[in-house]
Amino acid sequence: MYDGRLRKLELKLAESGLDAFLISNPHNVYYLTGFYGALGGDQFFLLVAPGEAVLPVDFRYLEEAMEEASVRVVEWKERTFNELVLLLPEGTRRLGFEADALTVDQHRRLEETAEVELVPTSRVVGSLRLHKDQVEIERISMAAALADAAFEHAVGILEPGLTERDVASEIECFMRRRGADKPSFETIVASGSRSAIPHACSTGKPIAVGDFVKIDLGASIAGYSSDMTRTVVVGEAAAEQRKIYKTVLTAQAAALELIGPGVSCREVDAAARSIIDGAGYAGRFAHGLGHGVGLEVHESPTLSPKSDEVLEPGVVVTIEPGVYVAGLGGVRIEDMVLVTGDGKEILSHAPKELIQI
Ligand code: ZN
Ligand code: ZN
Repeated sequence: MYDGRLRKLELKLAESGLDAFLISNPHNVYYLTGFYGALGGDQFFLLVAPGEAVLPVDFRYLEEAMEEASVRVVEWKERTFNELVLLLPEGTRRLGFEADALTVDQHRRLEETAEVELVPTSRVVGSLRLHKDQVEIERISMAAALADAAFEHAVGILEPGLTERDVASEIECFMRRRGADKPSFETIVASGSRSAIPHACSTGKPIAVGDFVKIDLGASIAGYSSDMTRTVVVGEAAAEQRKIYKTVLTAQAAALELIGPGVSCREVDAAARSIIDGAGYAGRFAHGLGHGVGLEVHESPTLSPKSDEVLEPGVVVTIEPGVYVAGLGGVRIEDMVLVTGDGKEILSHAPKELIQI
């Protein structure tokens, strides 16, 4: 699996006229080698040249890297760029680096050390990661199933008086107990008027009767993320709350209906947006409709009014329309969807009818 990915990257090297590639995005290091330690927060570099990939790690990671990585692992004793540069194949003249993953300081030190031309690149490995293979789809599906279960658990414990943070920590504990490496992002539980903030963090605010409670959660399994949102009402929903909920649900259904290979991301966004605008909530859905999910919670493609991408088989995206009314609250409903060769498979299965707790 990793060999195949490296071969594809080598083709890209050749296309770009590069002799070697320095990978420093941790997700890309993991994607190309299987070295899970790359996701732990320390900086790793992977060097890729035709027919050869080398992963230098210091002694703390040596054993783990030897066990997990499918490429040649060497000890990076001094952790200097001098040492790193010596690992480049002889005759390397043009070295590609990831412009969005190398710091200015690292670039400067590399420039001082290496007698090579440093060539900025963007989204080279990202373009490979766009299309998920079978193993990736299995992991993403497991992460999505765990998000479904965590939501069900949250509904089971939710009651007035608990704080947003209480519910968020319950969700996170549940996911870890059921096999998540970690939450794939900081769990959002936003209630009452705070639910109108699209990316609110969970606070000590007690959940009250009459509140919308927006829960955005995801698990990470073997490095792969899930991302799902559901919104419930505590007590009986008021008329306006029902209207908002129905609008968002209808908008989501319209977007989901449209998904398939060859469909423009902008069109899918427009399908949901026009329903929200038509229901009198124009301007209340102030974010894109969705995004790719994989090793990162937010990756390509983007579904928004500005998007010029087209959905392709193997791509996993979220569909997450929302309506946010300041003072009253907000609703978002988010599912993960896999684009297949002839249509789609929805990976999120948590219920979407309005739940009143
Ligand atoms: Zn989300
Ligand atoms: Zn999302």
